[in-house]
Amino acid sequence: MTNSTEINLVAEALKNGGLVAFPTETVYGLGADATSDTAVAKLFAAKGRPSFNPLISHVHAAETAFALGEFSAEAKKLAQAFWPGPLTVVVPRAARSPVSLLASAGLSSIALRVPNHPLALELLRAVDRPVVAPSANLSGRVSPTTAAHVKRGLGKKVAVILDGGPCSVGVESTVVSFMNERATLLRPGGLSRDDIEKVLGHELEIEADSAQPHSPGQMESHYAPHAFLRLDATAPHKGESYLGFGDHDHGPYTLSVRGDVVEAAANLFRMLHELDGLGVKTIAVAPIPHEGLGEAINDRLRRAAAPRPKT
Ligand code: AMP
Ligand code: MG
Repeated sequence: MTNSTEINLVAEALKNGGLVAFPTETVYGLGADATSDTAVAKLFAAKGRPSFNPLISHVHAAETAFALGEFSAEAKKLAQAFWPGPLTVVVPRAARSPVSLLASAGLSSIALRVPNHPLALELLRAVDRPVVAPSANLSGRVSPTTAAHVKRGLGKKVAVILDGGPCSVGVESTVVSFMNERATLLRPGGLSRDDIEKVLGHELEIEADSAQPHSPGQMESHYAPHAFLRLDATAPHKGESYLGFGDHDHGPYTLSVRGDVVEAAANLFRMLHELDGLGVKTIAVAPIPHEGLGEAINDRLRRAAAPRPKT
């Protein structure tokens, strides 16, 4: 039986950087404090994904979401019609957002949702911060819709599993982006397109084929720094800024002095943004071991270093 004492303990665990699984109406989520780079890096490590995808920040009330993103009138209208519920909206991040850049994979946007489940809402209210919560399964496995699924898949990697019985919707939330002029369906899910279009009074755009890299609509889908990146650099050349790791440590920006890939992931986007903000032409990046989260870090760096399409 889940009572308010248990909810408060789970909320404390989240605030202390722990990972907890909790039910939502869509699927069970693996939650982490969205404002902590370290907690979010731990979450990516636990899921074992080979790349960083942007995560959804969950909050207990629409008003809270409205402070974390810049909502157009249409985005607000949709949120007010369907929250709490299986709708995620993607909007520009608010200025000085407390949400970790790693949570949104370095993008200038943020995905927000108010889930419709009493336990999830009670937990989010007690935590009183945004919580990222991708499905509580290992990467590549099916999403869990019961606490037993979570236990089977993640077992010891999660401090607590709040049991709220089977999820009523059972598929992920519908994701609608307001980053372009027209509202765009990024992922079909638990809320039907028809229901959304009825409220908007017009059709949704459909995300252009994501298999086509660098099509105009896709430009924002990956954060690319302005500076060029030179990878596997053991030391900076003249005029370059250096992003170090472990023993390769030349200057103020080192992803992890002790050579820890989870710590490096936590610092990755923030340090890239900071270095990029200095206006340097080239950022030389130390070699990162290809193990654990190192795989996702290298995936991200490779994309950021790839030749840019001419604009
Ligand atoms: P999940 O949390 O695993 O259910 O999935 C998150 C979904 O939201 C993925 O399809 C992401 O691509 C999408 N998403 C999250 N944040 C953003 C964002 N800032 N921009 C675009 N899509 C996002
Ligand atoms: Mg999933």
